[in-house]
Amino acid sequence: MVVLDHEISKKAERFIREKEKLLGKIILKDINKHWNPSVRELDGCHDLQGSDQVVWLKPDNPDFESFMMHEIMHGVLIHEGFPKTARTPEFNDEQSHYIGSLLTSVIADPIIDNQLIGSRLTTFNRDSAIQNKTTEALLDSKTCKGSPYGFCFCKWALISFHACIDNSFTEKQRKNIYSIIDKKFPQALEFGKILCGKVKKEGFSTPQKALNAMLVLRNSLKLNERVIIVDSQGSSH
Ligand SMILES: [Zn+2]
Repeated sequence: MVVLDHEISKKAERFIREKEKLLGKIILKDINKHWNPSVRELDGCHDLQGSDQVVWLKPDNPDFESFMMHEIMHGVLIHEGFPKTARTPEFNDEQSHYIGSLLTSVIADPIIDNQLIGSRLTTFNRDSAIQNKTTEALLDSKTCKGSPYGFCFCKWALISFHACIDNSFTEKQRKNIYSIIDKKFPQALEFGKILCGKVKKEGFSTPQKALNAMLVLRNSLKLNERVIIVDSQGSSH
């Protein structure tokens, strides 16, 4: 089976077929054609368009297959009742969209990785993801200072939170990412670690706990106006 010019493995093909039975149609698209420039920088992204699962991927990514399965798993989690974020009409800008997606990812990704590892499937390469973050932090530090509750502060606090909460990072990888963030956005790093402590206490592995965790993150980062969290019943928070 060929997906965006990639000949994918039999295992990955089985994965797609199996998930399509559960979720309905899965459409794979080139992320370089996404409308939002910040999203184009990402390795992958998942959207729901009506009842279709739309998965955006970088065709030239050497880790293509892992990202593909990862993004499809975002659809599985929503299907299982995990919350998602939505844009507000007042803040329908690129940055709010980006922060909303990141807020979903930092809670969903650790769950997804555990499930993929549990099913003997591959997760994406952490070291190259960390490498990309080094460049990103440098670029971001040129455009913003990271003062509390601004875009860069929220972004890097969420990335710090993710590194802290996700068990699939090794200690060495965690230290690496912390030191990258510490150089450019030290306040965000500290805040992310505090948020991690809060969420760790309550956990986030069920849809209800994940909703509470996302509310803690969203409210602590003062993103209430910008990001709406939608639960499995379709209610907005
Ligand atoms: Zn993700």
